[in-house]
Amino acid sequence: MQEKKYANIVFPIPVEGEFSYLLPEQFRSKAQIGMRVLAPFGKRDNETEGVIVGFPENTEYQELKEITDILDDEPFFSDDMLKLTKWVAEYYFSTWGEVLKTATPVGISIISKRIVKINDIKDRDKVLSDLSKSAPVQAQILTTLAWEGEMSIQKLKTRVPRFVYSALSALEKKGFISISSQLSKPIVKPVIDYLVHLAKPELEIISEIEKLKGRYAKQSEILEILVSRGEEKILITNLAKLVGTTTATIRNLAKKGLISLEETEVFRDPLEGEIFPDSKNLNLNADQASALSEIIKAIEKGVHETFLLYGVTASGKTEVYMQAIGKLLDMGKGAIVLVPEISLTPQTVFRFASRFGKRVTVLHSKLTPGERYDQWRRIKSGDADIVVGARSAIFAPVKNLGLIVIDEEHETSYKQEESPRYHARDVAIKRAELVNAVVVLGSATPSLESFYKANRKEYRLLTLPQRVDNAKMPIVEVVDMRTELMQKKNRSIFSKSLQSAIEDRLAREEQIILFLNRRGFSTFILCRECGYVAKCRNCDISLTYHSRGEMMVCHHCNFRQPVPSLCPNCKGNYIKYFGVGTQRVEEEVRKLFPEASIDRMDVDTTTSKGAYKRILSAFKEREIDILIGTQMIAKGLDFPNVTLVGVISADTALNLPDFRSGERTFNLLTQVAGRSGRGQISGEVVIQTYNPQHFSILSAQDQDYRSFYRQEIVNREMLLYPPFTHFARIILRGLSEEATIKASETLGEILRSYQEANYPELEILGPAPAVLARIKKYYRWNILLKSTDPSEIRGLIKMAFAKLPSQITKGEVTYAIDMDPISVL
Ligand code: ADP
Ligand code: ZN
Repeated sequence: MQEKKYANIVFPIPVEGEFSYLLPEQFRSKAQIGMRVLAPFGKRDNETEGVIVGFPENTEYQELKEITDILDDEPFFSDDMLKLTKWVAEYYFSTWGEVLKTATPVGISIISKRIVKINDIKDRDKVLSDLSKSAPVQAQILTTLAWEGEMSIQKLKTRVPRFVYSALSALEKKGFISISSQLSKPIVKPVIDYLVHLAKPELEIISEIEKLKGRYAKQSEILEILVSRGEEKILITNLAKLVGTTTATIRNLAKKGLISLEETEVFRDPLEGEIFPDSKNLNLNADQASALSEIIKAIEKGVHETFLLYGVTASGKTEVYMQAIGKLLDMGKGAIVLVPEISLTPQTVFRFASRFGKRVTVLHSKLTPGERYDQWRRIKSGDADIVVGARSAIFAPVKNLGLIVIDEEHETSYKQEESPRYHARDVAIKRAELVNAVVVLGSATPSLESFYKANRKEYRLLTLPQRVDNAKMPIVEVVDMRTELMQKKNRSIFSKSLQSAIEDRLAREEQIILFLNRRGFSTFILCRECGYVAKCRNCDISLTYHSRGEMMVCHHCNFRQPVPSLCPNCKGNYIKYFGVGTQRVEEEVRKLFPEASIDRMDVDTTTSKGAYKRILSAFKEREIDILIGTQMIAKGLDFPNVTLVGVISADTALNLPDFRSGERTFNLLTQVAGRSGRGQISGEVVIQTYNPQHFSILSAQDQDYRSFYRQEIVNREMLLYPPFTHFARIILRGLSEEATIKASETLGEILRSYQEANYPELEILGPAPAVLARIKKYYRWNILLKSTDPSEIRGLIKMAFAKLPSQITKGEVTYAIDMDPISVL
């Protein structure tokens, strides 16, 4: 083999490129692709962590820097993961380094810190007083350092309000300060414990036990336990607990040579301490069985294939996933199960943990970095071979991956809204292609993209048309709220139908879910006199009234302000609240049904730790009759005693100016409706709307996905929207409106000039202000690129972005590129 002399490194930063380094002699045999290294990088040559991605034979550069250290003993990223992350970076317009960072559990990188130290300065007081006149920021920095001696640049920035780097460099040049870099340790580290075993033959130990009895009762007890356990090893901490003594006592036995201690790592386990009853495979019905057998056949063949498992709510999809995984484990393969963060409820985790025990691990955003790191290592070592997790679990280093399940594949939370803006479903399919694994996409309301591909035989369609146990689909009534007001003179937020349905179910001691996808009390605050609407100071959005604390709150940036008693504009006292949020629903329900037990679940009631679990378990125990909530309760919940679901307003998503608003409305309504009648008693759903003729609502009423699909796909084809085309959305953001517009227009012109010459088929829309035209003080403009071929979009962006408008290069305006965006708001 050719001697490795150079290495190409990728750093976890938003800067494109691989960087070549010299590999010092001592690392040449050890270095492998996928290992993490430390190397000097950046303007000031900070020691930075990077990943080896190649060993070039030679390089055009003359003076190469050297790699300082290799951090791993075996590759941290496999070849497949490197290929996958590289693909993600290219497709979604981020850098490879950023994707590698996303694929690494938080807290394990070594971060270098820059430390500033004050030097001895002659006539310090005079220097300071001179500086405070000529360069006040420099003076402030020096004063702060004079007090503290040394501190990190990060901390310094928080202490010196007008901190700029140039002031720091000036001080360094003058010799007043020196700057050095310091490696901070990884935030999380393995926890070390010791396994205890006997160090002498059993007979000798037994005679020792006799000697120790009396004076050293604890020690003899320890030995007795160890003898009784035979070969079974035990952790020193557990042994100490068992005997009711300290680890020091146990160590004394080691000093006497009677036992030995073996170092071992222990894993922090998010499921620790929870008890899961065993669950066995259920007897599948015919539809489930045939879906399962198709999936298993594909796994056995070991070639990549994608299935779309389209099954109505409560049709037993999860049971199919679990049995497929059971078979997979027998074949020595592993699985990833992605669920939307929102349905990572204790219920879901519980089902998998009951079936597969310790072989399951959970990855989600609520884990501590320590837990996450440990679970990640359990996966890498092959100790855990089933990963249940949210979006980023798609990068989990599962060994011998055979199956990826994406439950509720239509969920928009699978798309990451910040760089890298990947869609976990598409990454899953790419990953499965690379390792010849099978993908199962499951949904009661598949995304238009997936169902379209299934129709075109790119995916294989499997269907579960019935609920298990032949539970009936709920009966859905759509109530026209216009006639409620006009004909029935009913001003309440509840239609007559919904009210009487609630009464009815309460009388039968069944449970009720009321759904409204808007939190707060009222959604806007208006002066009847002059038309003033209370808006956020930072966003182009009206404020929502929250009754708790009498506050107006921005749901985008959380800006809060007390409710004015007089109109700030005309000083009149005709301030009125409009629109209904979950708080208001709760208040009205309490008034109408004072004897019922009522609770609410939304972002505002679940901020405290454990609140979510508490509400759900109270609901499960039937301590709550009526549960009110936002989309937090729309999905995944399986409570057989819920027989009525009321949708307070079906129109919240429908009126958004976005090409997916119809799809979103249909999905949400069908999912919520699916919470009703999951048990023996049949269920009922009441949907209130001002758009009773809209096909999204009508199809949801019949719970007829295919009918919805047939109409929506025609719209999409007519307007050339996905799945018929791919979109890229370029979002430009700036604090100055003028600069943002200028940059958008210039970029638009540049794009058009290249487009006409190179990609005549590609369509450019805009620039135009985004629907949410201002958020958190930033103005937002959009340019949309649309093409049937995503590589055309990539080609055009590559060309045009070599020539960015000056507002962008100067940093006044920033941009982001969102490939296959979820929404264009
Ligand atoms: P989905 O994932 O389609 O919503 P689930 O897998 O959650 O459906 O199934 C709904 C309920 O039916 C669960 O309580 C599950 O345990 C049960 N179930 C699933 N399959 C069967 C079966 N073959 N026989 C009996 N009960 C089943
Ligand atoms: Zn705001």
